[in-house]
Amino acid sequence: MALNKSLVWLRRDLRAFDHAALHHALQQSKTVYCVFIYDRAILDSLPRQDRRVGFIHACVAELDAELRQLGGGLIVRHADAAVAIPQLAAELGVDAVFANDDYEPQAIARDARVARALAAQPCLWFSFKDQLVFDKSEVLSLSDKPFSVYTPYKHAWLKKLRAQPACTAPLPVAPLAARFAAPAGPAALPTLAELGFEPDALASLAIPTGMSGAAKLFEDFLARLANYASARDFPALKGPSYLSLHLRFGTLSVRHLVRSVVELIDRGVGGEGAPVWLAELIWREFYAMILFHHPHVVGAAFKPAYDAIEWESGPRADADFAAWCEGRTGYPLVDAAMAQLNQSGYMHNRLRMVTACFLIKDLGIDWRRGEAYFALHLNDFDLASNNGGWQWAASSGCDAQPYFRIFNPVTQSEKFDASGRFIRRYLPQLKALDDSEIHAPWLVPRMLLEQKGIRLGRDYPEPIVQHDAARQRTLARYAVVKGPH
Ligand code: FAD
Repeated sequence: MALNKSLVWLRRDLRAFDHAALHHALQQSKTVYCVFIYDRAILDSLPRQDRRVGFIHACVAELDAELRQLGGGLIVRHADAAVAIPQLAAELGVDAVFANDDYEPQAIARDARVARALAAQPCLWFSFKDQLVFDKSEVLSLSDKPFSVYTPYKHAWLKKLRAQPACTAPLPVAPLAARFAAPAGPAALPTLAELGFEPDALASLAIPTGMSGAAKLFEDFLARLANYASARDFPALKGPSYLSLHLRFGTLSVRHLVRSVVELIDRGVGGEGAPVWLAELIWREFYAMILFHHPHVVGAAFKPAYDAIEWESGPRADADFAAWCEGRTGYPLVDAAMAQLNQSGYMHNRLRMVTACFLIKDLGIDWRRGEAYFALHLNDFDLASNNGGWQWAASSGCDAQPYFRIFNPVTQSEKFDASGRFIRRYLPQLKALDDSEIHAPWLVPRMLLEQKGIRLGRDYPEPIVQHDAARQRTLARYAVVKGPH
């Protein structure tokens, strides 16, 4: 034990178990303080009603209570983190600050600023891998280069996991908890109102929060895991895990998730679902690796040739974009998906692909506008995965959908919501339509629609674009990138 006092700065790792920074700080220090900063540099850019802030607020309260049980507690500040961390380190007189790695370019720059300020004090800075099983350059091709295609990356990732099973071993906290220091001063945490936010949106959604919420969701999902492969593509079904929000804020340990699923696979009880779900967690690591090695993807195409594409602009494009955002395109699956996003902050993966493809390839609108809308509205917004998903749909990303493969929103609807159950959930005005009619109401004879109490343009929009014509326009638009990209 080399250090006297240390400070652990928790960010997107809001848990008190299996936690790299807490584990290493406790191992190496006599006394450990913990801090969470509501970072003004981020919060000031958000709308005053933000489900993510509500979620974090609930998670911080649970984390503080859990740390207090263990003999510690959270110091909570509302400040510019890059300034507040060195200040707090000086106030407490700590020898070192511990944190877990954050791979987003802005976070890397912020952490570098903090590390420089600490070095001048002097105070040490340690940062650990925690958010991912393998990060940065841990999984490389045979020629020691970062991968840009997912499938060989996945194979190399799985091979590495088999070779180094210890990389998912838990990093315990509780056995060393006697070294936690309780924070001095009042125990009261800031309210949402004190942080400048309206305590709205999250409460009505009953989203499970904190470590306890994450554990409950994972337990619930394990009972459905075997069916994941067959259920995951159908938005009306409870197919996926709904864990993305918890992975984003670290209320669970990804090591634990991977270890649990691999154990089920090895025991032959994970069914078809377990390896497919593991492959999704590997997509998350793949996109994090891409962002780390290619930070230019923030704002630009992974494949630069795609930056030459001319997107629609002007009042018509703005009106189309607004219709997409508000779920008024006249394509029921797209509109129901956008309603799901707007009402809950979640959107099913299949629908993220469908709506992204529709914006880019049916409306000809720049993928960056859609990416920004998702970034604002998704509870689970993650820069790497969101950018990866959008560039996949735009065909500009690594291992993306080829530009000439253009989802037909009606066919997608007939295939993945055949009975219209998902559509009816979000567009009750279309309830009366038959299963065969609900995917493309404009094809239903007007008289029949009227009999069912629906008038297009009054109860539900006419389609804002004709898919076949849009498809041709997209092929022409993408002609600038034809070639070996
Ligand atoms: P599950 O199906 O249970 O998957 C388990 C976990 O694997 C997810 O929680 C997630 O961490 C990871 N995962 C699954 N699919 C992907 C994927 N395609 N790429 C990367 N990781 C994946 N995911 C985000 O976490 N944040 C985002 O901001 C985000 N934006 C997206 C935007 C677009 C246009 C697209 C096509 C996909 C996006 N995804 C994003 C990926 C995926 O849609 C979500 O991770 C998934 O829908 C979350 O639901 P779940 O937790 O129930 O997923």
